[in-house]
Amino acid sequence: MLDVEGISAAYGRIQALSNVSLKVSAGSIVALLGGNGAGKTTTLNTISRLVPLTAGSIRFEGQPLNRLQSHHVVKAGISQVPEGREVFRDMSVRENLDMGAYGRSDPAGVRSDLDRVFGYFPVLRDRLKQKAGTLSGGEQQMLLIARALMARPRLLLLDEPSLGLSPVLVQKIFDIIARLHADGLSILLVEQNAAVALAASQYAYILENGEIVLEGASDELRQNEAIKRTYLGS
Ligand code: ATP
Repeated sequence: MLDVEGISAAYGRIQALSNVSLKVSAGSIVALLGGNGAGKTTTLNTISRLVPLTAGSIRFEGQPLNRLQSHHVVKAGISQVPEGREVFRDMSVRENLDMGAYGRSDPAGVRSDLDRVFGYFPVLRDRLKQKAGTLSGGEQQMLLIARALMARPRLLLLDEPSLGLSPVLVQKIFDIIARLHADGLSILLVEQNAAVALAASQYAYILENGEIVLEGASDELRQNEAIKRTYLGS
């Protein structure tokens, strides 16, 4: 479904990614793990065309993304859930969700997608008029995912959904991720929390200093001694 081949990216003289290759097959959850500054967010941003490539290619369902603008990537079927609490703070929950559907010209489809999204996140239906900036951290994370779903993606790029959340909320968010996956969504999941990401995914890549240093089935990586020591704290 997604084919990233040998991509590199730089911020001025800082080489952020070197020759990164990864694949997401249809219907799978793939995790991209690594420490601070490893290049995880940059990888998602290059796929979304927010950061330019200096080498390599990206294809989605066979279509090259290299030359598309970021809103065309969304149209092609890829939505990114940004890291942190990047909701539109002064807008209501409803307005945030409408922003996710921006550019769609099928109002009936948008309405039915709103209902679908409330099926995953019932709390948002009760908060439609509330300013997004006043939601709790967990609710803001839910709104971010909901907003991305409003573009009706086939592939979701999820950046650090567990960041800053209590273990109970992390579990709640990952339960919803599992439901989205069961309902057919493919997901590229960036996480620092390797334990939850390996449990949630089928395949994983480890990024260090902008390079993929290890990849494999998530079940196998959980047993890998180096991974246990470095990322799983045992
Ligand atoms: P984290 O988990 O801390 O968010 P990450 O793995 O997502 O880290 P990136 O945010 O992709 O890492 O950063 C990769 C490298 O690129 C880092 O050295 C970072 O300082 C640098 N970098 C990221 N964004 C920019 C930017 N806009 N300008 C300059 N350098 C940047």
